[in-house]
Amino acid sequence: MSDIQRTDDEQLISSARRAFFRRFAPEPEQVVPNSRYPRPPWAVDNTLFLALCTQCDQCIDQCPMRVLGRSDEKEEILSGRPVLDLSYGSCDFCGQCVDACPAGALSREKGKKRQTIPQLSGSCQAELGLYCNLCEEACPEQAISFGADKKPAIDLSLCSGCGECAMDCYSRVLVMAKA
Ligand code: SF4
Ligand code: SF4
Ligand code: SF4
Repeated sequence: MSDIQRTDDEQLISSARRAFFRRFAPEPEQVVPNSRYPRPPWAVDNTLFLALCTQCDQCIDQCPMRVLGRSDEKEEILSGRPVLDLSYGSCDFCGQCVDACPAGALSREKGKKRQTIPQLSGSCQAELGLYCNLCEEACPEQAISFGADKKPAIDLSLCSGCGECAMDCYSRVLVMAKA
């Protein structure tokens, strides 16, 4: 990135921060609220995201997997912001959302690619003694293995947060949670 681009980026972030604090000026000691939902891949940290995101919906419109939507949260500052929902689909990290974001709220340089991780929310079929390794087979990163306890163990150093394992878990006990 050139110095000129970096200066432009910094000015953009500074003016967005100022606009954010003018609109949502938190009281002293008040914490900026965070969404209970994961953000789109490559989202920057919460406070900066809320400052920069203009709710233009371009990330949502560009997503070919239709896994981005608007938050239904009631708080004004969170309502309508883009969130990632892997309940009925997965993300292949095509990058169309980050490339579409004109505001820097999604950023390959400053953001975090993985916004979700898989978690067990109940008794897995394998743990109950039934044969199943669908999640292990579905994982493109070989991040899942079965240990002596017969539960799927997820290696988070390999996991991309794509959601394929949760999609293939037919008992729906493997769910994607906010990272
Ligand atoms: S990386 Fe691609 S599939 Fe994943 S949320 Fe962004 S646009 Fe959708
Ligand atoms: S494209 Fe960027 S600015 Fe627009 S809604 Fe998505 S995250 Fe917000
Ligand atoms: S979220 Fe994707 S990479 Fe992570 S364990 Fe599941 S299938 Fe593998």
